[in-house]
Amino acid sequence: IERTLSIIKPDATNRNLTGKINAKFEEAGLRIVAQKRIHLTKAQAGKFYEVHAERPFYDELCEFMASAPVVVQVLEGESAIAKNREVMGATNPADAAAGTVRAEFAQSVGENSVHGSDAPETAAQEIAYFFAGLELV
Ligand code: ATP
Ligand code: MG
Repeated sequence: IERTLSIIKPDATNRNLTGKINAKFEEAGLRIVAQKRIHLTKAQAGKFYEVHAERPFYDELCEFMASAPVVVQVLEGESAIAKNREVMGATNPADAAAGTVRAEFAQSVGENSVHGSDAPETAAQEIAYFFAGLELV
């Protein structure tokens, strides 16, 4: 059994889509084992997306992630990292498969409704960034 870090991004929380997105996770067999709504500062968003610091969209991405509250969550299941990315769909909604979160809800390649960890190492780091040990059972 595996765990991954998921974020429901500001474009989705603004449009009140948390429940619809969570339904897709649960229908795919992912269990929401931790979840909270937080409003990131731009600095906190910047630290989270540090790997993209040299990319041209970095500043815009950090502004966006700090523009409204997000829902951070830990999803658990068999191959949770890959399964979550499958449910999310491609980064650019124009390329996302039908039925995925991004195909249905994303507004652009930047405002694309969800984040999901991409590997076991990043999942562990990202979960630890947002959740204390006592919050995870
Ligand atoms: P995430 O890491 O959020 O799960 P991802 O792994 O599909 O998404 P990355 O390549 O890691 O995509 O990019 C991180 C985030 O940066 C994207 O989800 C998106 O919000 C933003 N982003 C990526 N490419 C662009 C772009 N060309 N223009 C604007 N924003 C972008
Ligand atoms: Mg990524």
